Amino acid sequence: MPAFREIEVLLPAEVAYDEYARYRALLQAAGLQPGDADFVHLRKRSIDARGRQPLVRLRADIYPTAPPADLFGPWFTYPNVSRAHRSVIIVGAGPAGLFAALRCIELGLKPVVLERGKDVRTRRRDLAALNKDHVVNPDSNYCFGEGGAGTYSDGKLYTRSTKRGDVQRILRLLVQHGATSDILVDAHPHIGTNKLPAVVAALRDSVREAGGEVRFDTRVDDLVLTDNHLHGVVTQTGEELTADAVILATGHSARDIYELLHRRGVLIEAKPFALGVRVEHPQQLIDQAQYRLKERGPLPAASYALVHQTHWQNRQRGVFSFCMCPGGFIVPAATAPGEVVVNGMSPSRRDSRFANSGIVTAIELEDMDLKQHGALAGLRLQQQIEQQACQLAGNTQLAPAQLLGDFLRKKPSASLLETSYQPGLVSVPMDEVLGAGLAERLRQGFQNFGQKIPGYATNAAQIVGVESRTSSPVRIPRDRDTLQHPEVRGLFPCGEGAGYAGGIVSAAMDGERCAEAAFALVRSA
Ligand code: FAD
Repeated sequence: MPAFREIEVLLPAEVAYDEYARYRALLQAAGLQPGDADFVHLRKRSIDARGRQPLVRLRADIYPTAPPADLFGPWFTYPNVSRAHRSVIIVGAGPAGLFAALRCIELGLKPVVLERGKDVRTRRRDLAALNKDHVVNPDSNYCFGEGGAGTYSDGKLYTRSTKRGDVQRILRLLVQHGATSDILVDAHPHIGTNKLPAVVAALRDSVREAGGEVRFDTRVDDLVLTDNHLHGVVTQTGEELTADAVILATGHSARDIYELLHRRGVLIEAKPFALGVRVEHPQQLIDQAQYRLKERGPLPAASYALVHQTHWQNRQRGVFSFCMCPGGFIVPAATAPGEVVVNGMSPSRRDSRFANSGIVTAIELEDMDLKQHGALAGLRLQQQIEQQACQLAGNTQLAPAQLLGDFLRKKPSASLLETSYQPGLVSVPMDEVLGAGLAERLRQGFQNFGQKIPGYATNAAQIVGVESRTSSPVRIPRDRDTLQHPEVRGLFPCGEGAGYAGGIVSAAMDGERCAEAAFALVRSA
């Protein structure tokens, strides 16, 4: 009987994406016959497009006998905390809030999750109204509602914050709640907007089944704060809720929360962020450039990651691609009427005809009016550009857009291309939306990207504004060790809105860390 084997191979896509052909190829590479292996477990899959023909790199474990049971889960069980003596209020049911709630349960604390938006199914109606009737519900939209900003997204799950937590644990938790196990294997895993709602609902069910509470249509409007000790929160109905700790995981778009903290004298700080546009290309153009094939066949829709250093008026700023969505859609991500914001999402198969990506430039503190707006300076700049975009495009959810070649030549576009952005586009010179400095930096970036990807910086593409919700323009400070606000006992700033995460996985990991920190506080009390 041959021993357990680890194997790595490079295979053509037709073989790698066909289950049986792949199985045979892996065994053959290991010098085995079908009868020699009980189970072949795929461990990693990535695409190597550097050579003449794109190949798929696979790492697999071959088991001569039954594989270890922990390959398949379930990996997590939850005790019942309905009668727990200690409770934690978690504001926001985004990835940070939901993963904080589950970790609280594992630690024996009862989580009470308060979410301003609706459950993931009901939320869909507000998204339809946004796309079709241009109505923005300030409590239920692409950023607010169960699952947070991560629900109607691409569901990309790769993160650079691998040192901040256990990525594999987060991925396993998602698989246990219904995500495809491919996310444990792919080098660039993603779930897709069509699959995410069921996963989010399953996470919430786990919280409730274990005795935690999850309340929708419950917006936190005030704090129960005495002598720099946060005891709880007040909801929009005036209900006061208290707990042993409060995890504030309201995301980067909850401007009213930043205003509230500022008003109540809780220290917050302006923070650099990034701002720009979303660029949309035919997916085929990106596939052909990246794979150098006429048709991509079984290969997934191709993506890209681009970066360039720009110089303008003695200031050096990076321009980079952000949240690239192959085979995706541009979506309206505004959270209040009177503003236009775009972002991107894609279905699990990534099979739309369009590739879109944010192309943004860094906004540093010196680019903001700190004198006038203090800690809210970045937020005000973001707000002003979003409102400008809305006004210039006619005060609906129509988004301002320009053909990319025209933008580079500073020429208004006589007409626009077909788009995946459902509310529709209006031709507007994007310099008017962004202002000279931002536009100039983006132009330098696009020119450079055009040298890297043939056909990229031409009128085959269009830019759509504005991509402004990249990360939080405000930081809510916290102590490095206790994760508590340095001046307010019992307050745990968490996730993207507090400035400690950027993306689904890093927000989820931060949620877990905050739950552990809250547990440490509660235990010591
Ligand atoms: P959020 O997800 O923003 O959740 C905050 C929650 O708090 C919201 O549900 C909100 O309703 C609630 N809330 C706010 N204020 C209050 C209040 N006062 N009272 C009660 N509740 C409140 N990231 C990726 O990693 N991969 C992607 O593919 C990806 N695609 C994206 C696509 C789109 C369209 C958008 C908008 C974002 C995308 N992101 C993606 C970013 C990702 O969604 C966020 O980084 C992540 O969701 C942040 O998690 P969070 O829990 O910190 O905050």
